[in-house]
Amino acid sequence: MIENKLLDLENTWKGFKDCIVYKIIKEDERVTSLYIKSLDGGKLPGFTAGQFIAVRMKNQDNTYTKPRQYTLSLNSNEEFYRISVKSEENGFLSKKLCNEIQIGDKIQITVPIGNFVLKNGDEPLVLIGGGIGVTPMLAMAYDAVKSGRKIYLIYSIPNSKNHSFKEEINDLSKNNKNLITTVFYTRPEENDVLLKDFDISGRISLEWMQETLPKNGEFYFCGPLEFMKAIYKNLVKIGIGKENINYEMFKSGEDITK
Ligand SMILES: Cc1cc2nc3c(=O)[nH]c(=O)nc-3n(C[C@H](O)[C@H](O)[C@H](O)COP(=O)(O)OP(=O)(O)OC[C@H]3O[C@@H](n4cnc5c(N)ncnc54)[C@H](O)[C@@H]3O)c2cc1C
Repeated sequence: MIENKLLDLENTWKGFKDCIVYKIIKEDERVTSLYIKSLDGGKLPGFTAGQFIAVRMKNQDNTYTKPRQYTLSLNSNEEFYRISVKSEENGFLSKKLCNEIQIGDKIQITVPIGNFVLKNGDEPLVLIGGGIGVTPMLAMAYDAVKSGRKIYLIYSIPNSKNHSFKEEINDLSKNNKNLITTVFYTRPEENDVLLKDFDISGRISLEWMQETLPKNGEFYFCGPLEFMKAIYKNLVKIGIGKENINYEMFKSGEDITK
């Protein structure tokens, strides 16, 4: 059974609610984390790791932008939400959120929703994030470390320029012996140091998955389309049952299983 913490009905709302951005952190060249509080000072509803909110902003002519979805990248607390946004080339809202927004600006958000959440169980958990697709994995890792379950957090990025959450993940791993992290750089820069900045050079290969990942694990992944297709194919090849393969697409319209 999926536990959904959205039970605190007093703190929920319908549609969009005014919130304020009170902290902005540049995670890397293209990813920015926004810390959001309710404008009226009220508590925010709890959520289940992996869920997302829809976000919109006011345009200069007082209309609103189209809403876009952003995963909550820290686990649940009642005071604030954190979203982490990658500035997409030609993207409208993502660019505004990464490049224009200032501390104190208002944005509007929905309550957290989504079914990409951890299933109950105590089998090993394998969380695989490609690029900005690491956001649900991070929230899930924060939640799951408390359970004592063995967790593999695998993170693939081009190189140090795209290495968001580096210290945060290192700290999480240092403080939780049940969490094993592996960072892949697909295109390391000259100054990137193997076994210091990253663990493995190249893509997450079938052979590595075969040798390293637990066959009795529950698997969750998210990332760019080609990454997702490759991970899905490899999981099936190493014998993982489809009932243990869970994923979320940030861009709809493609079937990664074909
Ligand atoms: C459930 C869910 C959770 C998400 N969580 C996050 C998150 O945590 N962080 C995050 O940065 N994004 C996340 N996204 C993606 C986000 O909702 C937007 O799609 C993205 O920020 C682009 O919006 P935009 O308005 O800037 O782009 P648009 O103006 O809508 O699109 C402009 C251009 O960007 C391209 N584009 C649109 N969306 C994407 C995309 N997702 N990937 C690559 N190119 C795209 C379009 O093809 C187009 O060429 C999530 C999406 C979903 C469905």
